[in-house]
Amino acid sequence: MMREETSSPQSSNYLITRISPETCFRSLRDPLRFLKGVGPKRAAQLETLGLSSVEDLLYHLPFRYEDRRTIRRIREVTIGAEESVIGQLVRLEKKFIPKRRRQILLGTLTDGTGNLTLVWYHAAPYLVNGLARGQALVVHGKVERGLGSEKRIVHPDFEIVGPGDAEDKERILPIYFRPGGVPLGSMRRWLAEALAEYARFLPSFIPESIAQRKGLLDLKQSMSHVHHPPKTADLIALNRFTSAAHRSILFDEFFYLQLGLGLRRKYRSLSEGISFSETAGKLTKQMRGSLSFHLTKAQERTLAEIYCDMQSSGPMQRLVQGDVGSGKTIVAWLASVRAIENGFQAVWMAPTEILAEQHFQNLQGFAAALSVPCALLMGSLPARVKKETATRIENGEVAFVVGTHALIQEGIRIPRMGLGVIDEQHRFGVMQRRTLQRLLSENSGETALRQPDILLLSATPIPRSLAMVLYGDLEISFMDEMPPGRLPVLTRLFHEKNRAAAYEQVRQEVLKNRQAYVVYPLVEASERLQLRDATRMAEELSRGVFKEFHVGLIHGRMNSEEKERVMRRFKDGSLQILVATTVIEVGIDIPNASVILIEHAERFGLSQLHQLRGRVGRGSHSSQCLLVHYGAGSENAAQRLAVMEKEHSGFKIAEADLKLRGPGDFLGTRQSGLPDFRLANLARDSQILFNARQEAMEWLAQDPSLESAESAPLKTVLKYRWGQRLELGSIG
Ligand code: ADP
Ligand code: MG
Repeated sequence: MMREETSSPQSSNYLITRISPETCFRSLRDPLRFLKGVGPKRAAQLETLGLSSVEDLLYHLPFRYEDRRTIRRIREVTIGAEESVIGQLVRLEKKFIPKRRRQILLGTLTDGTGNLTLVWYHAAPYLVNGLARGQALVVHGKVERGLGSEKRIVHPDFEIVGPGDAEDKERILPIYFRPGGVPLGSMRRWLAEALAEYARFLPSFIPESIAQRKGLLDLKQSMSHVHHPPKTADLIALNRFTSAAHRSILFDEFFYLQLGLGLRRKYRSLSEGISFSETAGKLTKQMRGSLSFHLTKAQERTLAEIYCDMQSSGPMQRLVQGDVGSGKTIVAWLASVRAIENGFQAVWMAPTEILAEQHFQNLQGFAAALSVPCALLMGSLPARVKKETATRIENGEVAFVVGTHALIQEGIRIPRMGLGVIDEQHRFGVMQRRTLQRLLSENSGETALRQPDILLLSATPIPRSLAMVLYGDLEISFMDEMPPGRLPVLTRLFHEKNRAAAYEQVRQEVLKNRQAYVVYPLVEASERLQLRDATRMAEELSRGVFKEFHVGLIHGRMNSEEKERVMRRFKDGSLQILVATTVIEVGIDIPNASVILIEHAERFGLSQLHQLRGRVGRGSHSSQCLLVHYGAGSENAAQRLAVMEKEHSGFKIAEADLKLRGPGDFLGTRQSGLPDFRLANLARDSQILFNARQEAMEWLAQDPSLESAESAPLKTVLKYRWGQRLELGSIG
């Protein structure tokens, strides 16, 4: 339930609107230059914030609210408090301050009870150009003590009060992000104009039963509340984005997204897949009997979820998320065994040859023990070998195939493809993932009409709230448990002045015949950034502190063959220390590496640090992660490093990262394909997201194809809001 505030507007009875959804959406897309007071120049400025239509503007919510409900007399203002006053500007002058070598702007405001000094140290012309002596101003800011008994506000927020708008001075004032040069007053006037002219196109199309159950206000009311809060509104709730109005707008946004994702999932489940047998066959029993360990609870749970999908007639698309070392490989292998014992082929795809090889080496023993014929297929193999292998795959002789995208590029047909496993799926990117899946299913021969099951593995856990948004059309399993007996990687911070101590730790490990990674943020020196770089430091280290060791270098400017060559030399032990940028393979398994030193740790994101740390602690040796930093810099960086010191679960770290950075930065919006949200902050609003998802799923359960009369407007909203972004080509 939404928390109702005492001060929120009354929940509306949902009026049946006579305006069709199409008309609403078309109207809301009117360009901003058509709005009164917004000319072509202003429209161009607004465009820089991505605001081009009336709808964009309405969804541009205030990021903060100021309490101007009480206008004080200047005599009564308190030093140290945030106050609002109204008065006349009786002095305005520029003054040169020799000590600061700059001009400052000084003003004096009078209201008959006293004087208030206004100070601008660096007054951007657009801010103060409109100011003139004699004007009436509403001024807001923190009052400080000036010289003597003088009271002053430095860089006050102010509004020039025209003769007509005196009555509206005492209120909760919305503050907007705005392009440089656009006065706050103009933003507010345009929003008032947009609300007046377009609010009627903002009816809520959320079904009434849901609106009532969740206590939602309609969009029109909500928008008016957030852009023009009544004096009685709850200021704290407004500032926290938790007012009923905010929550209603957010719910609306999430509901349609989840409906769209749910629909996409539904379409998929309608296509025909393979129904594998429910019970364990001979191979599964034999395999499970030969395991030298018990599966963790998380592994058992995940496996049960996979079996359930495999048995159902729809094609599985399940993402398994779990930290490095949580044991995803064995789970995916058991799923493969189920496919194979049902007479199908299982195909694994890894993002690099070295990872493909690693899987093959780890699993071919299992395969051999079960007498399952297997093959490895990669681009770099001799043409003759590739051809031979391809033939064995195409005639169905090979039941278990591991490969890279060479599998796809070489156009191999996999006649009885039953299960595809895509490892480190995030490395492929969203679009590539779709292509992979499509190609995998197209390449299959006999089963072409039946979609194979797909299992996606990821060692980059992301928080549930974000997973729902990114992968809302997939089933997700969370492997949030480590096999017993793992030693957590001891993580220590070193100020760069104490780098020698960190180097000494590395030395000690290498002298014990262990191996080490040393990671830098850049490949080579940059003029702009004063950072240590991998190329220079590899030289320096190999001639200096680590001169008795074999030091190698790997970075992103190398081509993939060079990279693989270096990784291989590290893997076979001929390199003892690997200097690297962040390109070190995700998922690469070098149990002998027991220490990783990360330079400029303050510059890395949490998830990235966690990924890097996952390169060690894979063997039986206790391992260390040494974070060398140049002073934790921003507060954020200090928090990140503190999280790394104490937290070891990828899920917890991802949650913290999302909170500290927000979803956009968290994944890098572009590469992740995250739909861009106008307002939501997933760390803050995840509860609303869960609620919206639940309602959307229940709605789809009742009306799977949105065919009822009540669903008709929903379809239209979906088409307009998410149709393109979610590739919902076929609705509406
Ligand atoms: P991931 O692929 O999730 O990074 P792996 O599947 O490579 O992890 O597992 C890491 C190591 O842990 C492997 O050597 C594997 O054999 C072992 N392992 C997996 N599951 C268990 C378990 N339940 N108990 C003990 N060891 C396990
Ligand atoms: Mg793995």
